[in-house]
Amino acid sequence: MSTKHAKAASAFLEDKKQAAWFDETLWLVRAKRDKMSKEVPEWEWLRNTARDIKLYSNSHLEELLQEFERNATANGAIVHWAKDAEEYNEIVYNILREHKVTKFIKSKSMLAEECELNPYLIERGIETVESDLGERILQLMNLPPSHIVLPAVHIKREEVGKLFEEKMGTEKGNSDPTYLTHAARKNLRDRFIHAEAAMTGVNFAVASTGEVVVCTNEGNADMGTSIPKLHIAGMGLEKIVPTQEALGIFTRLLARSATGQPITTYTSHYRKPREGGEFHIVIVDNGRSKILGNKDHIKTLNCIRCGACMNTCPVYRRSGGYSYTYFIPGPIGINLGMLKSETKYSDNVSACSLCYSCSFVCPVKVDLAEQIYKWRQDLDGIGKADATKKVMSGGMEYLMEHPKLFNAALWAAPLVNHLPRFMKYNSLDAWGKGRELPEFSGESFNEMWKKDKVNDKKK
Ligand code: SF4
Repeated sequence: MSTKHAKAASAFLEDKKQAAWFDETLWLVRAKRDKMSKEVPEWEWLRNTARDIKLYSNSHLEELLQEFERNATANGAIVHWAKDAEEYNEIVYNILREHKVTKFIKSKSMLAEECELNPYLIERGIETVESDLGERILQLMNLPPSHIVLPAVHIKREEVGKLFEEKMGTEKGNSDPTYLTHAARKNLRDRFIHAEAAMTGVNFAVASTGEVVVCTNEGNADMGTSIPKLHIAGMGLEKIVPTQEALGIFTRLLARSATGQPITTYTSHYRKPREGGEFHIVIVDNGRSKILGNKDHIKTLNCIRCGACMNTCPVYRRSGGYSYTYFIPGPIGINLGMLKSETKYSDNVSACSLCYSCSFVCPVKVDLAEQIYKWRQDLDGIGKADATKKVMSGGMEYLMEHPKLFNAALWAAPLVNHLPRFMKYNSLDAWGKGRELPEFSGESFNEMWKKDKVNDKKK
């Protein structure tokens, strides 16, 4: 039985050229991350410290968030609390409505994706424009992101050229990246100038100062917040860090892990409203506080959304972001999806080879693979175990519990080598799709070992 992920992955792999290019592109990002991290001698110390700070923050969340609210309010910001996506969308919409905003510019926010803020606002008549280039391309294509840091990584420049030709009237057949970037910049400039309010996501919120920190490479968050007097920042409640010293640990890890850069091009600190304006910060729970009580999965709250676990994941790189059923793909998405709904997103749990590469690269030491392994063990309990795998596991269990039968099976196994191809490679053998089965050895390890022992005695 194929899972939804397996079916979508097969479709993705049909375009061999595109699949190879996707894999290579992300592997390049992973290699850059490796190089950068090796240039920092205290890299492992940074990872351990980041994990410890997150552990501290997650176990002192209430007091840190209250401290943040006090300081942000003293700075002149207005802090709101949203228990779920619906409340978040309502709060943002009400702020915009009260200010009669019809033109709204946004920088990248995975929280907004999670809460489906854009369609909510657009349905209510607010022109909502993404200003991150990748996000803008996807918005014009009516597609969701396929990666959390490189949202349009799966789109080729020729496709962008065609899109811009249609939407922005660029030259026919011109897909030169510099030309297209200039066209996008020109197109967005007008939106920046006429926006009546701006939204940013939040990478970190500092409790001791009440400031929020936004990291971008394009400067679009800064452009967006430079003209309108109204700024709304949306943050998941796990974005809190205690102090600026703690913040420094995370900013050193984030860009190196995400794109292999020493630092993001723009790291903007927002503390107070612009003169005569308003600065709103919306703190969103949407299921996060429930994770606090889940000892097996609490570390997902450490995540700083760098995307490194996706770039390294052999399954993600070979199946693309849209193969997953949760809006965040890859190892972190598998875990977050299961925390959102075990029954709805259990399909993604099979999209893992348990190579543990994700756990090794994660800058905040989220135990991603360990958690996926745990979910797999729980699948049967929630009635979501794959029926074929269940039968096979039952068969293996029986075989292992009966040594005579097991040895007889080992003795007979090399016969498989002589079976006709159609008997080995058919719809029952999903593993053999695009792969060759290794040949069974004529002699089992057990037999070899016994022989060696006899030879040893003879010596
Ligand atoms: S789980 Fe770790 S590696 Fe994956 S996105 Fe989050 S911080 Fe990055």
